[in-house]
Amino acid sequence: MTELLVLGDISVEVEYKPVKNLHMTVYPPDGRVHISAPRDTSREYIRNFVISKLRWIEKHRTLFRGRNRQGNHLLNEGICHVWGIAHKVKLIERRGPPKILLNGGALYMYIRPDTPQEKRLALLDKWYRGILRTSAPALIKKWEPLIGVEIRGLYVRKMKSHWGSCNYDRQTIRLNTELVKNPPEFLEYVIVHEMIHIIEPSHNQNFYRLMNKFLPSWRITRKKMNAGKLFQDGNFYPAVAASANVMGIVL
Ligand SMILES: [Zn+2]
Repeated sequence: MTELLVLGDISVEVEYKPVKNLHMTVYPPDGRVHISAPRDTSREYIRNFVISKLRWIEKHRTLFRGRNRQGNHLLNEGICHVWGIAHKVKLIERRGPPKILLNGGALYMYIRPDTPQEKRLALLDKWYRGILRTSAPALIKKWEPLIGVEIRGLYVRKMKSHWGSCNYDRQTIRLNTELVKNPPEFLEYVIVHEMIHIIEPSHNQNFYRLMNKFLPSWRITRKKMNAGKLFQDGNFYPAVAASANVMGIVL
């Protein structure tokens, strides 16, 4: 059963389920709030819980709005993520060849005066791709002898619905450029996953046995990846969640 709880300008979808704990999630990109609650939780309790978390909800909604701006490519006031770390974008207009540098938590973009927005974005995309292109081969080299496969080609592409893919006949793998914006463990998980596909093309028992053998932490990483969503604009928005234990409450 699902109910809608309205508190000021916040609407909360409350879904009653056979779960032990109350669990609240704020979803990007619009800041939708969802609660899963044990079937016998009182409305009063849920209401008080939401009220106690209003600041937390607002904080994350503001964060998502900032990310949406980034998605809309207003780089001037944007934040760019590199390996899961947020960097404030600083645009510096000057003559000379354009370049991008990371320094002291900021991403400096040196561009010629009046560089149009599309060109700035193209420069940023190229820079992101470059980082992934230089980081991925070392990981592939590390895993080739361990898994016992040889990778004959690596492609880095912007993809809308996949983190990676592989062509097991050609022994090539393709990685989503977005990986460079996320924690490094995402990249390693995708590389290992695609490399194992070269031995085992389908997601069957053998595939998971190999995943468990080579990268036992893969489930934790996948959970983190699934907590977010790769949106149509090519940006990754992690979901955030808070839990409250309702056990021991007299209902
Ligand atoms: Zn797969």
